[in-house]
Amino acid sequence: MSGKTERLHAVAAANNYIASTEIVDQQAATAEDVFGLYTFNLDQMQARLPKATFKSLKKTVLEGAPLDSSIADVVASAMKDWAIENGATHFAHVFYPLTGFTAEKHDGFLDPDQQGGAVAEFAGKLLIQGEPDASSFPNGGIRDTCAARGYTAWDPTSFAYLSENENGKTLCIPTAFVSWTGEALDKKTPLLRSHKALDIQSRRVLRIFGHREEDIAPVTSFAGPEQEYFLVDRNFIVNRPDLLVAGRTLFGAPSPKGQEFDDHYFGAIPDRVLAFMFDVERELFKLGIPAKTRHNEVAPGQFEIAPVFEQANIASDHQQLMMTTFKKIALRHDFVCLMHEKPFAGLNGSGKHCNFSVGNSTQGNFFDPGATPHDNAQFLVFCGAVIRAVHKHSPLLRAAIASAGNDHRLGANEAPPAIISIFLGDQLQHVWDQIEAGGASSSKEGGMLHIGVDTLPELPKDAGDRNRTSPFAFTGNRFEFRAVGSHQTIADPMTIINTIIAESLSFISDELEAKMGGDQSKLNDAVQAVLQGIIQEHGAVIFNGDGYSDAWHKEAARRGLPNLRTAVDAIPALESDEAVALFERHSVLSKGELEARVEISLEIYNMNINVEANLVEEMAETIIYPAAMRYQGELATTAKALQDVGAKADTSVLNKVIELTGGLLGAIADLKAARAQGFDTQLGQAEANRDAVLPAMLKVREFADGLEAITADDLWPLATYQEMLFIR
Ligand code: ADP
Ligand code: MG
Repeated sequence: MSGKTERLHAVAAANNYIASTEIVDQQAATAEDVFGLYTFNLDQMQARLPKATFKSLKKTVLEGAPLDSSIADVVASAMKDWAIENGATHFAHVFYPLTGFTAEKHDGFLDPDQQGGAVAEFAGKLLIQGEPDASSFPNGGIRDTCAARGYTAWDPTSFAYLSENENGKTLCIPTAFVSWTGEALDKKTPLLRSHKALDIQSRRVLRIFGHREEDIAPVTSFAGPEQEYFLVDRNFIVNRPDLLVAGRTLFGAPSPKGQEFDDHYFGAIPDRVLAFMFDVERELFKLGIPAKTRHNEVAPGQFEIAPVFEQANIASDHQQLMMTTFKKIALRHDFVCLMHEKPFAGLNGSGKHCNFSVGNSTQGNFFDPGATPHDNAQFLVFCGAVIRAVHKHSPLLRAAIASAGNDHRLGANEAPPAIISIFLGDQLQHVWDQIEAGGASSSKEGGMLHIGVDTLPELPKDAGDRNRTSPFAFTGNRFEFRAVGSHQTIADPMTIINTIIAESLSFISDELEAKMGGDQSKLNDAVQAVLQGIIQEHGAVIFNGDGYSDAWHKEAARRGLPNLRTAVDAIPALESDEAVALFERHSVLSKGELEARVEISLEIYNMNINVEANLVEEMAETIIYPAAMRYQGELATTAKALQDVGAKADTSVLNKVIELTGGLLGAIADLKAARAQGFDTQLGQAEANRDAVLPAMLKVREFADGLEAITADDLWPLATYQEMLFIR
């Protein structure tokens, strides 16, 4: 008999766990000692490289200076020695293909020495360039399969690191992945290109504000992603094919207790979870990932971790590595870490709030209001650039976070709606109101703000009273893009954010230059005029109210803000004429690269739904239907026995089970019918999946969940929501 009792025995056995201190690294005692232990960081480079080589490499790492390829051999050799001394036997180019996952190809260091022995080799060219077989990665038609050559190129700005396993270590080298013709086949390349665009356009604005070119360090974006996730006891996953394969439950009656008490949110972290967190954070520290905050989230079994923000390219690599590390370390503690956007119906899903800012080492954070009127004026220009960018290009932001998983979360009362708007907060809103009113002399407060002359009011940086319903919120010195899904890379959203801000900055520079005509004394008036124009034209994107309310959906429609409800609506925005012109103008993505991304995103959407639909059929037919039939048999046998002894048998439950089982079979047949039609295009298929297949899957679930609610507990073969959410 496979049923509840057996499941619980397995969990009980596993939970006699020992907090795994022996796995924790013993080399170092404190977090500071552990930090970066497994990275080939600047300290290691300095210690192991000749002075001139180190200087040159450091310039590349810190300032983005072009890599001097003549140093590759020396760097490779030092990196190999370091890796081998630390136990590595293999190396791997790590890359970020369009699947959104992380890929790696491992090679051994050992080469035969032609005398029967072997030597460890790692030449510069192996460090700089690799050639994984690109043909099996999605390319969206970028290359003919016969010409499927792609190569990985070392990104020296993202430190190489050691990935560890009980049986060995591998030197991992973050790389960009491009086709032989130079087209980006990955998520990193466009992000790096978007930093270039951001740098070029930010510099123009900074120069207009009087900064000298030589005083402006390279400009990039910075990102601090807050990652939400669920932990579920591993033993439950074994009998949940849906969680195992699709990462979310496709069946499951609600637990008698859900998240209604809010007792989990910020509650004391359960001991077993805390043991996991200590362990995983230590692993992250070794990899140089600055994990900082951790707490319980809203749903039972849901938690969050946030690292300290880093340059966006590094943050993106670290974010990918963090997700992998979480999944790996969770298993050590007999948990499975779920990063799906909606693992459990009826409970909060998981997001990845992407906090970001733009700046450099010389002028600091451009989203920081600053202390002088001049700094404030510059801040308002960058803030205005964001407002304009988000209003003009919100479909692109929506497309950047479009996935089958995120569709279950966006727009539900826990995550931002699919309508992209900006929250500024009262203080900053008031400033923009004054800018909009321009030189008008009557303001509520009496006086008017004069850009470049007056100081801004102190803007609150307090995290307490923030608007939780806005997809795009200003939080004192950064913006927070909240609509990103929990499993998604931040590379896509950051690439788009950088590009659309660069485009706005370019527009603003053009305007300012035209208005000033080379006369620096006209700066303040020009800024005032340009910002007034921006807020008049793009102020409609600002919304400080409740994004969950129906009223907002109506109001947003009145304002003409797009409401792209599903991924299928949003993804094609990436290949609109406007998008192609934008990305090509800033040399971030070509038309072909954009079309490839649309094709692949839709394909992934379709594959996700296809797998889920397969699972629904399989589980309904081979797990749920048999359980229902067994229960029918038990009820029928008992009823018959009762009649035989002359007792009155109540068959109401039996009849209900029969009715639901019949409904289940009918719904399975309907699902199969909904899936029968073939399509020539990914878009056509995706629309059918959204409009016909997903609703048919839900119908099967309705009957199944109805059966779960009345079937004898010891006969129900699947782990229940209650077990998965509350046993830890
Ligand atoms: P909350 O949950 O209150 O929104 P957290 O502390 O969980 O905040 O996460 C905030 C994230 O924002 C962290 O990753 C933090 O490092 C990041 N962050 C802070 N300042 C900046 C900044 N200037 N640019 C980018 N990210 C930032
Ligand atoms: Mg947080």
